[in-house]
Amino acid sequence: MLVDSHCHLDHLDLAEYQSNLSDLLQAARKRGVGRFLSVGVNLESSKKLIALANEYDDVNVSVGVHPLQETRPPIPEISELIELGSHKSVVAIGETGLDNYYDRESSEWQQESFIRHLKAAGELKKPVIIHTREAKNETLSIMRNHANTNSSGVLHCFTETLEMAEAALDLNFYISFSGIITFRNASALREVVKQVPLERMLVETDAPWLAPVPHRGKQNEPQYVVEVAKAVAEIKGITFEEVSEVTTANFEQLFLAGLKV
Ligand SMILES: [Zn+2]
Ligand SMILES: [Zn+2]
Repeated sequence: MLVDSHCHLDHLDLAEYQSNLSDLLQAARKRGVGRFLSVGVNLESSKKLIALANEYDDVNVSVGVHPLQETRPPIPEISELIELGSHKSVVAIGETGLDNYYDRESSEWQQESFIRHLKAAGELKKPVIIHTREAKNETLSIMRNHANTNSSGVLHCFTETLEMAEAALDLNFYISFSGIITFRNASALREVVKQVPLERMLVETDAPWLAPVPHRGKQNEPQYVVEVAKAVAEIKGITFEEVSEVTTANFEQLFLAGLKV
């Protein structure tokens, strides 16, 4: 079994599935994808996802406000995040983080929002899902100052350097790779995949964005996490089964272990 550790089920175009999310999930299940973590990008989306999680046993959700926003909403209050994050179907806080690649202008908003998400996650003792792009030092310094390293979390859709990955691993965080590792120009990132221990790795699609090879240019779907796991196996010179087994165990350890008590 495989897990898509990061997708946005409320942002998919379901035309190919006659507007039926269950059919899209079923297509993924048929290929061995047995669990989905659907990640919130703003407060409305987070509320929608909490309702969605009630419909499907194999869908977990997170709540948070993405660092990139078309129009900047007010920075979420820690209390709002804690209230939404307390729902039992919510396994994580995020996605949050810093993105200087697409938006350098809003860095103050992003930093304050990131800190509030980390504080809420720390209070709830739930892991945090971090988006980071071209903001290595700022991201790490905020993590060092504000992250709860017991409940930790993940740097998702990782595209940064090995040095950054190692710093996050030192803080007890996991590293998640997406379809970007299949892109022709991503050889530096494939080197990072080689070095990050499988025991600390997750796989994801970030669907509907970033479809892996050979589906580039199409809408990404959770079932394509199979292609991501295959790429990890090839890069590391191990079997697809081993990648599936270990990354699934990692997912359960990070996101589900706390729920069993
Ligand atoms: Zn992201
Ligand atoms: Zn995302």
